[in-house]
Amino acid sequence: MSTGAADTAVAARIARTVRADIRALSAYPVTPAEGCIKLDAMECPYPLPDAVRDAIAAAVREVELNRYPAADQRALKAQVAAAFGVPAGAGLLFGNGSDELIHLLIQACCAPGDTVLSPWPSFVYFDMAARFDHARFEPVALTASLALDLPAMLEAIARTQPKLVFLAIPNNPTGGAWSGEQVRAILDAAPGLVVVDEAYQPFADRTWMPELLAHPNLVVMRTVSKIGLAGLRFGYLAGHPAWIAEIDKVRPPYNLDVLTQAVLRTVLEHKAVLDAQAARLRADRAPLAAALAALPGVTVYPSGGNFILARFSGHSDGNAVHLALKTRKILVRNFSAAHPLLAGCLRISVGTPDENAALLAALQEILSSEP
Ligand code: PMP
Repeated sequence: MSTGAADTAVAARIARTVRADIRALSAYPVTPAEGCIKLDAMECPYPLPDAVRDAIAAAVREVELNRYPAADQRALKAQVAAAFGVPAGAGLLFGNGSDELIHLLIQACCAPGDTVLSPWPSFVYFDMAARFDHARFEPVALTASLALDLPAMLEAIARTQPKLVFLAIPNNPTGGAWSGEQVRAILDAAPGLVVVDEAYQPFADRTWMPELLAHPNLVVMRTVSKIGLAGLRFGYLAGHPAWIAEIDKVRPPYNLDVLTQAVLRTVLEHKAVLDAQAARLRADRAPLAAALAALPGVTVYPSGGNFILARFSGHSDGNAVHLALKTRKILVRNFSAAHPLLAGCLRISVGTPDENAALLAALQEILSSEP
């Protein structure tokens, strides 16, 4: 068969085999970042110090790659619980990033067609994972000022009876954090499980972790991606042990590889380093937000994360500013076309002081060159 004929035969098989909704998708875009200032993915801009790298190298050397990961994760669970304030009596489930945990939650709870609900716009993967796993995704629009619309949430919960409600607190990409009163109302109204996704909690004032066992339908999900370990792929879910035991049933065996476990064990012995980096980003957030807000035509939304959502109006709308930054080798995330509530919006990670200064200088130049 010629290459052309073979390709046609494959395309015909794909057309009748791969799900139509998957065929219609494009793969998750990751922008090439070489030589760029990378402020588009909420990573920690600080590399680990040499002492920690040396300890990691020594730990990795001891790893037995010929063996599957050990079934008994008790020691690592105790270490994670102590490092991150998981209350005594709570269970833990580990994931290959919290992305995997989102899938496991949906697979364990949702039969085809069941509803997954979230305020919207929020983390896009809630929607994607729900669809991949044959659930129905119910987005509940935020208000025009990007606050939680509690009456709309309660109405949608009553109407759709969701198996799962995802609440990213602080919310990505808007940065807002829903109040204790709002979350309690949602916990009371939700017939199923409420997943508080605290990916950005290290940069915020509050956590739901201590209240985990006070509610029959609350679990808390976290990740180490935003505190300096995005390359590691490690997330954890904390909740009543009975919830965790159910969700654990759909976890692929050995989902957490031996290298990840070894590196995590070592880094957590130096957790103060991660905490100091997070504190630094948190301290640098307010001056960056103030400087952005002082630019012409820019509205900044309050953020509890390691990023800032900024709306660009006037001649240089979000698309134009995004492109102009990209030509200057500064990457931020463009949400202008993602949702009507985000028209003109760019999400900007807090970087190092030098990166933040370069961003602000570039924006000054871009916005002052308007006709
Ligand atoms: N939850 C939220 C709210 C996020 O923004 C992200 C990453 N963008 C994740 C979860 C996924 O994190 P991880 O790297 O652990 O898969």
